[in-house]
Amino acid sequence: ALILGIESSCDETAVALVRDDRTVLAHKLATQEAHHRPFGGVVPEIAARAHVEAVGPLVEAALAEAGVSLADVDAIAATAGPGLIGGVLVGLMTAKGLAYAADKPLIAVNHLEGHALSPRFADADLAFPYLLLLVSGGHCQLLLVGGVGHYRRLATTIDDAAGEAFDKTAKLLGLGFPGGPAVEAAARAGNPKAVPLPRPLKGSREPHFSFAGLKSAVARAVEAGIYTREDIAASFQQAVVDCLIDRTARALETLDNDVTALVVAGGVAANGAVRISLEELAIARGLPFVAPPLWLCTDNGVMIAWAGAERFAQGLTDPLDTMARARWPLDPAAEAARGAGV
Ligand code: ATP
Ligand code: MG
Ligand code: FE
Repeated sequence: ALILGIESSCDETAVALVRDDRTVLAHKLATQEAHHRPFGGVVPEIAARAHVEAVGPLVEAALAEAGVSLADVDAIAATAGPGLIGGVLVGLMTAKGLAYAADKPLIAVNHLEGHALSPRFADADLAFPYLLLLVSGGHCQLLLVGGVGHYRRLATTIDDAAGEAFDKTAKLLGLGFPGGPAVEAAARAGNPKAVPLPRPLKGSREPHFSFAGLKSAVARAVEAGIYTREDIAASFQQAVVDCLIDRTARALETLDNDVTALVVAGGVAANGAVRISLEELAIARGLPFVAPPLWLCTDNGVMIAWAGAERFAQGLTDPLDTMARARWPLDPAAEAARGAGV
């Protein structure tokens, strides 16, 4: 099957044409970083407007690059949430229009499912169930991925996401936007032991995450005026890595290691230190380690088209009146339990 995928939940507009045999016929991506840089973060109104301008030409360009027409496509997949609602609406409405015009099924993809299944695009041998560390700009979760549509959330962050912590640290250090890659680059020239920083929730029984205290500690280290930017970046990154590893190791314990692989996905999975440490943990536990290539970690259209292909193979399509959702947990039961203070 050939799937057209559209992503527009944050600050990249992306369109891809992907076959279920993992061939990418086209991948187009327009990042809005330059639009948002003056504001030091993503501005929702600007994002929505930029998606409107970008999405149509990107669809045309993707079809042209692949040398196919809409008639050759088997289904049209788009991110239907969670994310900035203006942007999500643009991508989803575009997909609905195309699906209606070409009489093709619509597939409403959860952006987090896009990240969660992207490792299976990267590695054809990756079988369910796997333990996924999903670390991105808005999320930090441990998920037991049991199959397409079967996600059990074992842990989540009680405050900030890991990517958010990278972005805020970058801002405190004057490294600009987007922050993750800038902090990683600065960290390379620093000493990870130079600045004493906390490891929130390390050693706690439930494998949840917390990064707000770490961010405050970084702010105090900056104010102290006695550390270099590079040393703060390196020490911060090491603290994040230590937390991610400790929490993931705890989740593996609770699962009795009973998974096919340890997997990482989401924008922070592009971080070299995160990848190396997780791989070491996997090796120590005798598990294969799977991480998507860097370009597939941050937001892109291929992961949405691929998730669409996985859903299409299960016969999962959606009606044209499917709603865009700003909030859309992958595991609603776990979300409800936390909401109830469990
Ligand atoms: P979500 O997927 O939760 O809705 P998002 O789509 O905005 O959020 P992604 O594109 O998946 O997030 O990831 C972007 C995040 O990844 C940003 O916070 C960014 O700083 C972080 N990031 C990207 N590259 C790196 C890196 N090399 N090191 C650390 N963090 C990184
Ligand atoms: Mg982005
Ligand atoms: Fe994302």
